[in-house]
Amino acid sequence: MSKKKVIIIGAGLAGLSAGCYLQMNGFDTEIFEAHNLPGGLITSWKRKGYTIDGCIHGLLGSSPSHPLYHLWNELIEMDKIDFYDSDTKFVIITKHNRRFFEYSNLNRLENYMKEISPEDSTVIEDFINGVRKLQDTKAYEVMLKKPREFFNVLDYIKMIKFTPMLGVMKKWLNMSAEEFSNQFKNPFLSEATKSFISPILFEMFVLSEMDLRRSGYPIGGSLKFSKLFERKYLELCGKIRYNSKVSKINTIPNGSPKLDKACGITLENGETYNADIVISAMDGRTTIFHLLNGRYVYKKLLDIYKTKELNPSLINISLGVNKTFENEPGTLIINLEHPLSLQDGSIYNYLKVRIFNYDPTLAPKGKTFINIPLETKNFEFWSELRSENREKYREIKTVIAEKIIELVDIHLDGLKRNIDMVDVATPVSYHRFTHNWKGSIQGWANENIFENKPIKKELPKLQNFYMIGQWVQPGGGVPTAFLSGRDLAQIICKRERKSFKRTKI
Ligand SMILES: Cc1cc2nc3c(=O)[nH]c(=O)nc-3n(C[C@H](O)[C@H](O)[C@H](O)COP(=O)(O)OP(=O)(O)OC[C@H]3O[C@@H](n4cnc5c(N)ncnc54)[C@H](O)[C@@H]3O)c2cc1C
Repeated sequence: MSKKKVIIIGAGLAGLSAGCYLQMNGFDTEIFEAHNLPGGLITSWKRKGYTIDGCIHGLLGSSPSHPLYHLWNELIEMDKIDFYDSDTKFVIITKHNRRFFEYSNLNRLENYMKEISPEDSTVIEDFINGVRKLQDTKAYEVMLKKPREFFNVLDYIKMIKFTPMLGVMKKWLNMSAEEFSNQFKNPFLSEATKSFISPILFEMFVLSEMDLRRSGYPIGGSLKFSKLFERKYLELCGKIRYNSKVSKINTIPNGSPKLDKACGITLENGETYNADIVISAMDGRTTIFHLLNGRYVYKKLLDIYKTKELNPSLINISLGVNKTFENEPGTLIINLEHPLSLQDGSIYNYLKVRIFNYDPTLAPKGKTFINIPLETKNFEFWSELRSENREKYREIKTVIAEKIIELVDIHLDGLKRNIDMVDVATPVSYHRFTHNWKGSIQGWANENIFENKPIKKELPKLQNFYMIGQWVQPGGGVPTAFLSGRDLAQIICKRERKSFKRTKI
C-alpha cells in the first residue's frame, strides 16, 4: 500500500517534531520552510565571530528525573547534549545597588534569605515549601501520556488529583511580585523580591525545576539544538524544502456540501504540491486568514483572534565584549534608578542581562557574548518605521543600544570600552524571519493557566488539515511546540488505525 503524503508548513520545532514522528509511523512527509534554516524562533546567528542567541534559557526535561526527558530522547540523544545548570536563577541588583542572590538550590536560598532576615522566616518557608510541592511530576506523567484530545473524564480527574496542592497553586497564581514583596519586614528582601516574575507561581515553577537541575541550558545555543531535530528528520528520510514560502493551502469539495478537504499547497513562486494531509506548523493568523483566506474560521476562533492577548515581541540587544566576566552570574536583573522610556512607548524599570560566560562556544576566546532582551508589544511602531524610513530605524536601534550599554556598564566594569559587536533585533526582525504575528516570540499570552485551554488543531469544515505549534497552545514555548507535533502524530495515527510508534521503523 502506498504511503500517505503529508505536507508540513514550517520547519520550526513543531513542524520538525510532527515530521519525525510521522516518518516513524510510515507516512511520506515533506516540510516546506520559508527560511533557509530549521528551527524557526529557536535560532542563533553569527556576527563578527560571535553567535547571537537568546532563545532557550533552560530546557524543561534536561535530566532523566523529569518525564519529558524520555520524550526528547525519542528524537535527540539527550545524553550527548552538554547542559549547563546555573547556581543562581538571577542575581538581582536593587536600586540601592545591593546584590540579592536568588540561588537555584532551595536549601541554600532558604538559608540565605533567613540569614538576611530571620524575622521573615514564616514567609520564606511558605514560599520554599510551595516551590517544593511543584516538584512532584505525577501530573506531568498523566499529561504526557497521551494528547489532550484523547483525554476522558477519568484522565482529567487523575490530572487534577495529582496537580500538586491545587489550592496552593491557585494562591500563588493570584499573587503578584509586588504583593509577595510586601509580606517581607526586611526592606532589602522586600525590594529584591519585587523583581520576581508575576504571578509568583511562574517564578516558583522555574525555581522548582532549577533546584532539581532539570531545566539546563544546552551548550552551543539554540540553532545547534534545532539542528539536532533536523538531522533526526533527515535520518528518518524526511524531506525539507528551504526557501519555499507557502502562499496558499489548496482545498477541494469533499462530497458533502459545506465540507472541504485540504489537498496541497501553492508556493509564492506559483509551484503547487499535492498531499493527502496538510499540517500548518507556522503562524496561526496567516494560516487561517491568508493561506485559507478566512473561509473556515468559526466564531470561537474568530473571537480568540480578535480579543486575546499575545505574548510580546522583543527589542533584543546583543553585545560582543572583548573581555571575560568569570566572576559574574549568568543572569543579572538590574533595577534602574529611573524608568527607561524607549521611542516605541515601552517603559522599563529593570534590565535583564544574560552574560553567557558559561557558554564559551558563543564568543571567540577571551571574549563574552551578552544579551539584553527588552519586551515590547508595539510591533506597529517598528514596522512603520522600518518601511517608511530605514535610516531612522537604524538610528533608533543604535541610540537604544548605546543607552543600554551605558546602563549596564555601571554594573559590569569595563563593558563599554571593550564592546566589539552590537546587534539589535526588533519585532520586525522576528516577523521577517519567522512570519509570526506582530513578531510575537511565544504566541498567545498565558493569562491564566487554569482557564487557557488548547485551541483546536482542526477546523470543523476542512478535513485532512491540522494546525500545531505555539498558536494552538496559549503560553507557547519550546516544549509546547515539540509536544504539539508529537500529539498530532498520535491523532493522525489513530485516525489511520495505526498504532503509534516512537522509534525508527
Ligand atoms: C528570544 C526568544 C526567547 C524565547 N524564550 C523561550 C523560553 O525561555 N522558553 C520557552 O519555552 N520558549 C521560549 N521562546 C519561544 C519558543 O522558541 C517558541 O514558542 C517555539 O519555538 C515556537 O515553535 P513553533 O514551531 O510553534 O513556531 P516557529 O518557531 O515560529 O516556527 C514556524 C516556522 O514556520 C515558518 N514559516 C512561517 N510562515 C511560513 C510560510 N508561509 N511558508 C513556509 N514556512 C513558513 C517559519 O519560518 C518558521 O521556521 C523564545 C523565543 C525567542 C525568539
